[in-house]
Amino acid sequence: MTVVYDVIIIGAGPAGLAAAIYSSRARLTTLLIEKNSCGGQMIITDLLENYPGFNGGINGFDLAVKLESQAKDFGAQIVYDEVTNIEDGKIKKVVTINNSYHAKTIIIASGTHVKKMNIPGESAFIGRGVSFCATCDAPFYKDKDVAVIGGGDSAIQEAIYLSKFAKNVTIIHRRNSLRATKILQERLSFYNNISVVYNSIPKEIIGTSSIEKIKIINIETNETQEIKIDGLFVFIGLLPNTDFLTNIALDDKGYIVTDENMHTSATGIFACGDIRKKYLRQVITAASDGAQAAVSAGHYLETL
Ligand code: NAP
Repeated sequence: MTVVYDVIIIGAGPAGLAAAIYSSRARLTTLLIEKNSCGGQMIITDLLENYPGFNGGINGFDLAVKLESQAKDFGAQIVYDEVTNIEDGKIKKVVTINNSYHAKTIIIASGTHVKKMNIPGESAFIGRGVSFCATCDAPFYKDKDVAVIGGGDSAIQEAIYLSKFAKNVTIIHRRNSLRATKILQERLSFYNNISVVYNSIPKEIIGTSSIEKIKIINIETNETQEIKIDGLFVFIGLLPNTDFLTNIALDDKGYIVTDENMHTSATGIFACGDIRKKYLRQVITAASDGAQAAVSAGHYLETL
């Protein structure tokens, strides 16, 4: 017999896990489907300093483990598989690579993936010098020279983390001022092995068996410069994971449009966290969205 869950949640980042905690605690049968591992982008963050309740910060992986066990303790089931399609209807079908699952409501919390630079050398050196995760790869660059691309919170936070391993960290940013929160910018001055090159964009990664240099261009003077590096860390933003979706309204950047109660354009389908069109993408706002999505899903179930 086909099992029909009350709620299927797609994605087990902080939004999906918070939704699972709320829906399973509300005694709704809840299945969480995750492509990789619980935690989403959070698990590659060394220290979450601004998540309330953890004075001094908490490691992203550690918080993910806590959220996962909290969701399981309330009864949420988790399967590891990749969703390829959603079929809408009174009973909705979630198709994955290995199976298909049915539910009365769906909560999409599929998050984002890292944006690539798309410059010569990037693809060839991914995993051999080009990285998108300082927490994972910083120890490989002890006493070496690395560059960081980007000027947002991730770039600055991860540059600071890298500075504890690398000899020199050069941040390359395309404008003349950083986007990152002021407290992170202020902190840069405490690290004398971090420098910032402004108004510059990466053009090419040069090397043979490993990275040797990055070629950058100053967008004001048009001058090119080559900087000797052993590793390159790219933090130029995130892109939404919506490839598996059809017939759900997205904004011009591909994020799901919802109202403040997380309703999407499709009845009985909700979205929460970084995947949705919103102003502030943080763990706390993802968790808050997840709670709201689960409550809205519960209200919808009562109308059936
Ligand atoms: P982000 O805020 O979108 O910043 C991306 C940075 O990369 C910007 O400085 C941008 O330049 C630059 N950039 C974009 N495309 C580029 C390109 N093609 N070439 C060169 N540079 C490029 O992304 P993020 O730092 O990954 O952060 C994502 C979200 O997570 C944000 O909402 C952020 O606040 C949040 N986050 C929060 C924390 C925290 O609170 N501790 C930590 C990490 C991330 P411009 O500035 O010129 O646009």
